Amino acid sequence: MITLHDLQFTPYLSEKKIIKAIDQLSYRLNNDLSDKKPLFIGVLNGAFMFASEIVKRFDYDCEVSFVKVASYDGTETTSQVKELIGLQQDVKNRTVVILEDIIDTGNTVEKLHNIFKDQKCKAIKVATLFFKPQSYTKEFDIEYKGIEISNQFIIGYGLDYKGLGRNLTDIYQLKQKTMTNLVLFGPPGAGKGTQATVLKQKYNLVHISTGDVFRYNIKNATELGTLAKSYIDKGQLVPDEVTINMLHAEVDKNPEAKGFIFDGFPRTEAQADALAVLLNSKDTEVSAMVALDVDDEILVHRLLKRGETSGRPDDADENVIRNRIKVYYDETAILKKYYQKQKKYFGVDGVGTENEITQRLSDVINTL
Ligand code: AMP
Repeated sequence: MITLHDLQFTPYLSEKKIIKAIDQLSYRLNNDLSDKKPLFIGVLNGAFMFASEIVKRFDYDCEVSFVKVASYDGTETTSQVKELIGLQQDVKNRTVVILEDIIDTGNTVEKLHNIFKDQKCKAIKVATLFFKPQSYTKEFDIEYKGIEISNQFIIGYGLDYKGLGRNLTDIYQLKQKTMTNLVLFGPPGAGKGTQATVLKQKYNLVHISTGDVFRYNIKNATELGTLAKSYIDKGQLVPDEVTINMLHAEVDKNPEAKGFIFDGFPRTEAQADALAVLLNSKDTEVSAMVALDVDDEILVHRLLKRGETSGRPDDADENVIRNRIKVYYDETAILKKYYQKQKKYFGVDGVGTENEITQRLSDVINTL
């Protein structure tokens, strides 16, 4: 993978494949134009490498020139094509071969085609290294197409992103944005569940609360529920193997997810490692750990209050609450370091109104 400015690109086509396509185009150009003394016109800047390879392979008399137009601004094709500069030859009665690096919508090549038509060329032919059939909107036929590609943005072999990448001899494509996977972190009572409910809507993510899944299983007296209950009632952690398997199953239930909010997971380093492996197998990763910082006494107060209505036995007993907080500091808090090492840890003040805290979390998420 390579980075140019703010974007990342992954390998897409090797130089070997490009050369093969150029060889095939050249074979046809030699066959078709051997007695035509063509004027090859490369469209700068992108076509300089392609033009050079085509001209090197042409075995008969020919002339070479370059013109410049601009149709790209960043990664978006702009419909506005600027003026043509640099054409000095008289093209009247000549066979002109326009050499393009890439034809996308066809705006640039249409403009060139019209300019040469006005100048009474004998024939106007177009050869392009890359062609995007899904974007092309014009009527006239592109006679020589090297490699057809779908709609991705590519760089290398003369093509650039904001000026960089032209020197690469392979072609790279823009890396698609991967999923946003948040680990919502903080001690029991920090407000992870409340905030996750808001954030999942706002960012279109799937919320997985391991505590909720365990409670659902306890309520429905499943095998998993029975296994987890003894630990949960004492405020201890459910063993890693059980929790990790359960999380795998929950993630696999959502193959179309744009990303996940993990709430209450990972709680141990083994779980964090397992999460990295799981997400890696799906070609993604943890985007950030966002942590809610709340003072212990506020947590105890909040959880006792929640216990009045939540029906959760582990919220009803102050000793169990204090044990959960202790377990958090003894076993879970180390994960702060784990994600800090990866530069993925973001701490947020968890005291304030619900909206204020959502805003603080969003400020972090929006930078990812
Ligand atoms: P919570 O709703 O996140 O406070 O979780 C309630 C209880 O479920 C915890 O006190 C643990 O007993 C258990 N639990 C939830 N998530 C995990 C996890 N990732 N690892 C182990 N136990 C967990």
